[in-house]
Amino acid sequence: MGSKPFLTRRKAFIAAGALGTTAALRRQGLISSAAAAGSELPPYIEIPHLQPFLADPNQIADIKVCIRPFRAAGPRLDVERIGDKTVFHNYGHGGSGWSLSWGSANIVIGKVATTLEKKVAVIGCGIIGLTSALTAQRAGCDVTIYTRDTLPHTRSVRANGSWTPDSRIALTKPAGPAFADLWEQMARFSWATYRGYLGLPGAPIDFSDHYVLSDKPMTTEDIEKKNAGKIGKGDYASTGMPQSSSEFAEYSDRITDIIPQAETIRSGEVPFGVAYGKRQQMMMYNFGAYGHLLLSEFFQAGGKIVNREFHSPEDLKSLPEKVVVNCPGYAAREWWNDKSLIPVRGQTTWLPPRPDLRYGMVYNGSSMLSKSDGIMIQGFDLELGEMAGVGNSFEHPDRSESERAIGVFTELFNRNAVKKG
Ligand SMILES: Cc1cc2nc3c(=O)[nH]c(=O)nc-3n(C[C@H](O)[C@H](O)[C@H](O)COP(=O)(O)OP(=O)(O)OC[C@H]3O[C@@H](n4cnc5c(N)ncnc54)[C@H](O)[C@@H]3O)c2cc1C
Repeated sequence: MGSKPFLTRRKAFIAAGALGTTAALRRQGLISSAAAAGSELPPYIEIPHLQPFLADPNQIADIKVCIRPFRAAGPRLDVERIGDKTVFHNYGHGGSGWSLSWGSANIVIGKVATTLEKKVAVIGCGIIGLTSALTAQRAGCDVTIYTRDTLPHTRSVRANGSWTPDSRIALTKPAGPAFADLWEQMARFSWATYRGYLGLPGAPIDFSDHYVLSDKPMTTEDIEKKNAGKIGKGDYASTGMPQSSSEFAEYSDRITDIIPQAETIRSGEVPFGVAYGKRQQMMMYNFGAYGHLLLSEFFQAGGKIVNREFHSPEDLKSLPEKVVVNCPGYAAREWWNDKSLIPVRGQTTWLPPRPDLRYGMVYNGSSMLSKSDGIMIQGFDLELGEMAGVGNSFEHPDRSESERAIGVFTELFNRNAVKKG
């Protein structure tokens, strides 16, 4: 095997020794898998000076923990009868719920429309419930959301918040080729819908430049060593749990025609004095502005929200609506007794907002994304890759994880300051 610096697909992106595999980068919303090869930035594009941020654990304003609702076969989108109710499921979107929400809602509400019922109940007000409710309204339905929490208090707002449409969305084999086609349909529809939310006051949906930085190029040998280290015993089919990063589906090559691709930064021009780097324009969701906008749209269209907690499917029988769209996310494991849901823990750390910082970056196992509601920092496990957090439903913050992730940037900026001085 050679030591080619820039490889493609699961065979890596730049310097995974410092960054993680392509899959890990996609998981962080930092790059699409197809962007791995990329081309060089043309000479007329200059990399702007990037202000460092105060990467200091003393600046931590919040630590959020979320459980990705992962299903090996992909999200549950089938239909069930409970008494006189027809229940349309829409849950289990793994690490891709924000990204696929509109496309998933479009598929589910398309099925709802065939019932000709105009009164629709939606269970859940996370990003999947809310986009399902809005899609049903746009199809002419009168919608009531029944939920334990509204969007600002759901797991959804504990996410990272960028375009990551195939981040732990399914395992390749259990999902099969039909899901790959469905995924493409959802991703394309969502992307197009999000484009309609660009350029609005408060930037609910925005783009920013993401820099993927590394001290050394990745070699084939390094990646193969890493993949070997990640593989557990057996696979999902034999154990009922994913055992290796390589089992996770990657579909983003299907939509490279609409997603801006990464470009290699010319040697000597990489930010913060790092040796290797790529830049990609990424879509991101500013939770505050976007959430507020969606809720306002829902109420303006006559939607109602009822605060209610369900404990078993039988509870649905008391609802006045005959059609129910079920969007409880990971909570379906308990209240719908769906044990096909596998928890995948993730944690984000928030520093105060810095409106003058308009970029995101990933370096040495940490990512940062500057958003209107704060600077989001997330660490990721270079050895475990997609397996990080799998099977872990512990929803309490781990401050040491946050401090480790911030420390990566402290070290980078300090090193850079010393070089300059
Ligand atoms: C660390 C991390 C980072 C992530 N980053 C991204 C990203 O960058 N991009 C991306 O696309 N995705 C990302 N995700 C994934 C994304 O957050 C999820 O896929 C998405 O939030 C799932 O949304 P949901 O609406 O299905 O579930 P939830 O947000 O959990 O909403 C469920 C709703 O159902 C209600 N509910 C649940 N049970 C009941 C009950 N019994 N009775 C009544 N109501 C009930 C809840 O109150 C809530 O309103 C990330 C996830 C994590 C953990």
